[in-house]
Amino acid sequence: MRWDNLAENTAKPGEGALFAAAAVTTRTFDTPEFKGITFHEIRARSIVNRVPGASRMPFEWTVNPYRGCSHACVYCFARKTHTYLDLDTGIGFDSQIVVKVNAPELLSRHLASRQWQGQHIAMGTNVDCYQRAEGRYRLMPGIIAALRDHANPFSILTKGTLIMRDLDLLRQAAEVTEVGVSVSVGFTDPELWRTVEPGTPSPERRLDVVRAMTDSGIGCGVLMAPVIPFLGDHPDQLRATVRAVAAAGATSVTPLVLHLRPGAREWFMRWLAQHHPHLVHRYERMYADGAYAPTWYQRGITRRVHELAAEFGIGPADRGGARRTARTARDDPASLPDAPGAGPTQLSLL
Ligand code: SF4
Repeated sequence: MRWDNLAENTAKPGEGALFAAAAVTTRTFDTPEFKGITFHEIRARSIVNRVPGASRMPFEWTVNPYRGCSHACVYCFARKTHTYLDLDTGIGFDSQIVVKVNAPELLSRHLASRQWQGQHIAMGTNVDCYQRAEGRYRLMPGIIAALRDHANPFSILTKGTLIMRDLDLLRQAAEVTEVGVSVSVGFTDPELWRTVEPGTPSPERRLDVVRAMTDSGIGCGVLMAPVIPFLGDHPDQLRATVRAVAAAGATSVTPLVLHLRPGAREWFMRWLAQHHPHLVHRYERMYADGAYAPTWYQRGITRRVHELAAEFGIGPADRGGARRTARTARDDPASLPDAPGAGPTQLSLL
């Protein structure tokens, strides 16, 4: 494995491969929670990463204390990053987890340096910082405390309910700086969840996080990602998901259609052939031009989700009214407009 691009350089000149072996501690744990998972503990060289200029991402700086993710979402776009370590993008990504054990101290040092200008830091943008490993390594409390102590704005995107453990710290940070929390819930269909996101907490549990964050005064948005063509994009499914998101009191809902970059694409298509073989050709056509679904399809989904968000009272339009409706929805879900299946507009997708 190639660790030299991650690990702190403690090697003596000429040590080469020896350094790679010496810099890593590999562990496994017997508990059922970590069955089949191998952890590679490293002391990282740096922890704040700059996002390449050409990226589509709306942030410039990120912190990622882990590489690989036991949440094991079949479609995960971060799979490719495991190849940089000579690890495989399938089972290897799900079960070989790199842990940057010195992440909190590195971040603290970075935030204190004169060069750092206090820019926003995004977390959970590559792999989930509240995946199961975090229950054992507890890196996030130190990271959030460092950000709080330097009043440095930050955001976290997660599918992990473990974030609830750090609610007090998040609240303290929100008193001194801008804190954004988003939870990723692409759909609420339990069958789809079990097969395509096998290591994650259920969508219901994730929506409980949204509810708890909102109740504690930290606004929480939902990244409705991914919307999976032909499996999670039926008008009833979109409606049920946005309705549940509204009932949880989310401050926003942002849809994102599945994209299939190299690394994720092969793994997803293998899964598709196994679980939904009749869809393979439709996917090959839909993603024939690359990693993204056709623009007309993405626009259709976005438009429909925005319509539903407006209907259920989520979103930036008429913030006061939207917040009131979302609060009402949370307190009394029965007050929401009609149940799934009764939507006035049926979205024709393909
Ligand atoms: S939770 Fe996020 S990072 Fe982890 S496997 Fe799923 S999509 Fe990837």
